[in-house]
Amino acid sequence: MRLAGQVSCNLSPPSCSIWPALFLALQACAYNPAIQREQLLLVSEPQMQELGAYSWTEYRNQTAEARDPALRAKAERVTNRILAAKGENRSSWEVAVFDDSALNAFALPGRKIGLNAGMVRFCRTDDELAAIIGHEIAHIELRHAAERASQDLAARGIMSVVIPDDTNMESIFGIGTTLGVLLPFSRKHELEADQIGLRYMAAAGYDPQAAIDLWSRMADQAGRGGTPTLLSTHPADSERIAALRAEAERLAKFRT
Ligand SMILES: [Zn+2]
Repeated sequence: MRLAGQVSCNLSPPSCSIWPALFLALQACAYNPAIQREQLLLVSEPQMQELGAYSWTEYRNQTAEARDPALRAKAERVTNRILAAKGENRSSWEVAVFDDSALNAFALPGRKIGLNAGMVRFCRTDDELAAIIGHEIAHIELRHAAERASQDLAARGIMSVVIPDDTNMESIFGIGTTLGVLLPFSRKHELEADQIGLRYMAAAGYDPQAAIDLWSRMADQAGRGGTPTLLSTHPADSERIAALRAEAERLAKFRT
């Protein structure tokens, strides 16, 4: 299991019977400097990539890709620019636009990003789409899915077992597409992905203000009764908009 960083997490007070589990949990805590906190990571990156690939294949088998070349070109253009600014190897990432009019997007471990055609169309500018793609890249880079899976395993007491790298992860989780596609991230994860995503888009030369405009427009749409699918997992409330605004202002100061 790949572990890094410091080894203390906020765990409940231990009892003697859980010392082995506690020991493993302490080893599995990794400090993430980007978000300045520790993460419980019981699942290795290769294991998460296996799950991501499984979910990606399953999703792609069920959902056709968008046929409109303009939508695919827009997604490619924005993805390429953000990844180039991050110094990433483009070939290790996958992005697909699916033939679905619902406003939605998702990220899977293994550097895979899915965008619905409806979401790409809703973004009036490349800057707005950069807000979505930056957000999804941030979920991947911050290993939110691994953290969520680890919390799930810990809640089921599975953290007392070392999970070998060759374990069939689907057999442990018993899930496919639900991983990352349907399960919502926590509020904390959403705010972190917003903040780091904003930095990615700004570094690529996109205007962070576009993220505020986009989320506000989605909130307006929800207010009119047409709740975008994305909002079921990404509530665009005043706290979210305020946090985006604060980070956008911070980045603007940084750039001047
Ligand atoms: Zn999100």
